[in-house]
Amino acid sequence: MTTNNQNAVTVTVTGAGGQIGYSLLFRIAKGEVFGDSVVNLRLLETEQGVQAARGVALELADCAFPLLGEVTITTEIDEGVKDANAVFLVGAKPRQKGEERADLLAANGKIFGPQGKAIAEHAAEDVRVIVVGNPANTNAAIVAAHAEGLDPRRVTALTRLDHNRGLAQVADKLGVAVRDLKNMTVWGNHSASQFPDIAELTLNGEKVADKLDEAWVNDEFIPRVAKRGAEIIEVRGRSSAASAASAALDHMRDWVNGTAEGDWVSVALPSDGSYGIPEGLVFSFPCRSVNGEWEIVQGLEISPAQQERIDANIKELQEEKAAVVEAGLL
Ligand code: NDP
Repeated sequence: MTTNNQNAVTVTVTGAGGQIGYSLLFRIAKGEVFGDSVVNLRLLETEQGVQAARGVALELADCAFPLLGEVTITTEIDEGVKDANAVFLVGAKPRQKGEERADLLAANGKIFGPQGKAIAEHAAEDVRVIVVGNPANTNAAIVAAHAEGLDPRRVTALTRLDHNRGLAQVADKLGVAVRDLKNMTVWGNHSASQFPDIAELTLNGEKVADKLDEAWVNDEFIPRVAKRGAEIIEVRGRSSAASAASAALDHMRDWVNGTAEGDWVSVALPSDGSYGIPEGLVFSFPCRSVNGEWEIVQGLEISPAQQERIDANIKELQEEKAAVVEAGLL
């Protein structure tokens, strides 16, 4: 990563006073993403959330992290993304009771449009953006559309949590270690329609699809991964935060440093038309990070059953896009 200071990186986290921010910031400051670079943090919050972000900054100071540089706390978007090499867009408006998806999309569009514009104008040229706040794929599409002059491939959305959840479920089912599994794929939208796909998944280099009962894959595995967030809320009493933060870190670390040899990960990014996904749709693909850029893994065979699930995701994302276009946000 190019640095804007000698051996220093600037990292922006929005929603820094929230749950995910609370898990994310300490690990970034510890050096888990950017190695031994000094990390300057920009904590962007709303008026409502800024006090909590100030509290987090006090705790960051108390950790005495050797790699932590300046910490800036702000409610001003331009200041929040200034010179940023990496931006974690976590803050989003949660869905309220009785609210339609179109309302949620429109409310979040108003947050992410100005953030996209500010990133294009004020962030570092090599900025890498990950959207965590939901609906993450469409929020990322809004960021990319408003970030004039920024290569859209620098704007991504998080499906790594779904990817990691899929690995954990298969490891548990087969009684093996997660580290021995490779080539999981999550296709599509970070929503209940997502397609966690084990067709290419390997255990110590051998495909596992024929070791797994098809009924288990279709009736238990796929819905469980897709609805894992609800399961966590039911058991924990609050939404998952540490696992979401951990996945966002995995995503940024691999983007910066490269994916593990022989493996790939799931990343939602603007489609280049691969696998027939309409260009520009922010869609989760199997990706490798090569020389600091995401590359979509090419040449995988797609069966009619896989295609059906992929098509359902295309349809849902096109509907989300239509809702934000109608709201004048795209
Ligand atoms: P969280 O930190 O728990 O979640 C933030 C966002 O991440 C939500 O959109 C949430 O979606 C999403 N998310 C993605 N994956 C997951 C997952 N696995 N589990 C849970 N959430 C996930 O929310 P908080 O309410 O604790 O904090 C949000 C903060 O953002 C507040 O401090 C608020 O002030 C701030 N904010 C900042 C903005 C800004 O900087 N401009 C704008 C809006 C809010 P979901 O809602 O579906 O759970």
